[in-house]
Amino acid sequence: MGRIHVLSENVANKIAAGEVVERPASVVKELLENSLDAGSTRVRINVEAGGKKLIQITDNGCGMVRDDALLAFERHATSKIKSAEDLLSVATLGFRGEALPSIASVSRLRLETRAPDEASGTIVEINGGKLFNVEEAGLPAGTSITVRDLFFNTPARKKFLKAESTELSHIASLVTHYALAHPDKHFELHSATNAVLVAPPVAGSSERVYQVFGKDVLDQLIPLAAVQPFEHVGLPQPPPWKRKEDEEDIAAREPGEIRVHGFVSKPEIQKLNRNSIYVFVNGRLIRDRLIQHALTEAYRNILPPTVFPVVLLFLELPSGEVDVNVHPSKTEVRFRQQSIMHDFVRDAVRAALMKARPVPQFTTEITAHATASPSLTPGPRATVAVMPQHRYQPAPHPFSLNAPVPPLQTERFHFSDSFAVEGNAAVSLARAPVTVPADRCTPPAEAEPEPSSDLAPSLASLKPLGQIRDSFILAVNPEGLWIIDQHVAHERVLFERVLKQRAAQKCESQRLLMPLVLELTPAQQALFAEISDELNKNGFEAEPFGTRSIAIKVAPAGIDASQLEHMLHELLEQLAQEDQALNMEKVRARIAASIACHAAIKVNMPLEQNKMEWLLAELAKTECPMSCPHGRPVVLRYSMKDIQKAFKRI
Ligand code: ADP
Ligand code: MG
Repeated sequence: MGRIHVLSENVANKIAAGEVVERPASVVKELLENSLDAGSTRVRINVEAGGKKLIQITDNGCGMVRDDALLAFERHATSKIKSAEDLLSVATLGFRGEALPSIASVSRLRLETRAPDEASGTIVEINGGKLFNVEEAGLPAGTSITVRDLFFNTPARKKFLKAESTELSHIASLVTHYALAHPDKHFELHSATNAVLVAPPVAGSSERVYQVFGKDVLDQLIPLAAVQPFEHVGLPQPPPWKRKEDEEDIAAREPGEIRVHGFVSKPEIQKLNRNSIYVFVNGRLIRDRLIQHALTEAYRNILPPTVFPVVLLFLELPSGEVDVNVHPSKTEVRFRQQSIMHDFVRDAVRAALMKARPVPQFTTEITAHATASPSLTPGPRATVAVMPQHRYQPAPHPFSLNAPVPPLQTERFHFSDSFAVEGNAAVSLARAPVTVPADRCTPPAEAEPEPSSDLAPSLASLKPLGQIRDSFILAVNPEGLWIIDQHVAHERVLFERVLKQRAAQKCESQRLLMPLVLELTPAQQALFAEISDELNKNGFEAEPFGTRSIAIKVAPAGIDASQLEHMLHELLEQLAQEDQALNMEKVRARIAASIACHAAIKVNMPLEQNKMEWLLAELAKTECPMSCPHGRPVVLRYSMKDIQKAFKRI
């Protein structure tokens, strides 16, 4: 007897659910897209327990007649396309006919719907994919879908849902961004009794940004709008002998145009990840490498390569110019004229940035004391380093920024006993090839025996005055006026701390409440295996989870669990880009830089006076206070001379 059989509908739906329904936010996304496809102008969403217990979405769209209400739960049942050709120009958000059966197979679902011209509506109830009630009822026009107990029958998936607050924040961000894409519609999101978002219709995108994010955010964004005609239609033409008589000639069709509108952030806004980049293509929220690349290009030399802007882009193009059928959750698309799209986005964003670029007021960027400057440019000279002697007695720390620093750790900062070990660590780090960011800080020993001794006393005498936009510390000393980037300053402090703790084998770690499961590609798995020992020594504890994944159970202290996944992926991505064989010193520096980056205080964070003082004092004690582990400057100085010159006193 043969061994192959066709899976039952229910099993097939659960498999599809695995692709479409990853978490509560993906349910919200599918249902919200359905409501928008149904022409709704008003959508209200209620959730409980981050959507794990309840997701309810009510719209005033076209509703469904009884037969459709039942058919909607059949696999591949859709009203949005009819033939394979329709796939070439999908104008709706949905088209796969998979969402409803998938969601219904992993939850307890209730559908209430009425088409406006029908006298009565239909209620359908499905439990874990099994239909158990259909009835006629008097209902308002439109559709309401209630999804309870998501994943109740797939406990393995349920277990790996994140905290309620995390799931809710994903839902909130999703709804917010759909609200931004459709300013003319009314959106509401409620979590239990809490109104998370209430956005009545407004005139346009700017009004919407103002409505949902407030004036401050709107002020930090640059609006952009551009349009460009396509030169030709991107769809491939069938050869003439294959063309039917009456078939429309694609080449003769109007090629149409690409439009973009939206917002990009000013250069002073720097995000540590891509989470604030939202790109919509024909109203569909997507993640797309091509567009990401175009954005990176647009911000080249405006933002350092390791940080990201805030971007909200709404691209519109003829539906034939974009293939939406490339990913089950429809979050990826393929443009038929890729390079045109890429260059269009790059140029539109670049033009907007150039137009709005503020005149730099600060011309003197501190790189280092003149004699030490050669060491700051990475180059062949920066090969050997000697651990500099610390001349300054660190002040006792009355407190720390995030978590209290245990006294023992403070002791270690006094670099007395463990000094030799730390010294070795620094030396070996400096021998790594120039791509190691810390190289910038380690000058050649012959030329400069006490490299960082010049800036430190200046920093140690700084008096903080306050913050600019809760992001940059303004400080003075007799040398002049200083601006310190609080994030990179803390990053530098933590980077050196992590390296020291690692060298002393005393990394602090924390057990995660829920293990973080990371899916890795085979290439990433191989990389991970190579660095896992080093990760362990930095306070991670991970074990294989299934064939493709690993579960992180313990992580370095100070990193928010929500940042971990990104941090590890970023690390693997960076290491994968190395073209030389992995060098453990380099790996160690990368890990330390990555931990520091994710644990450091962020911009837009108010700091009290004593915290600013603490940060400056800590910075003064670092080996390399002038640049962050990624090479960005930490401090800017407006010297007394510059000030006097500007006031025409000299
Ligand atoms: P798709 O959106 O890919 O067509 P779904 O499984 O999400 O597939 O939905 C199946 C069908 O159910 C849709 O094609 C649509 O006709 C109908 N439908 C779903 N949600 C709604 C709604 N909120 N209002 C009206 N019709 C809906
Ligand atoms: Mg759908």
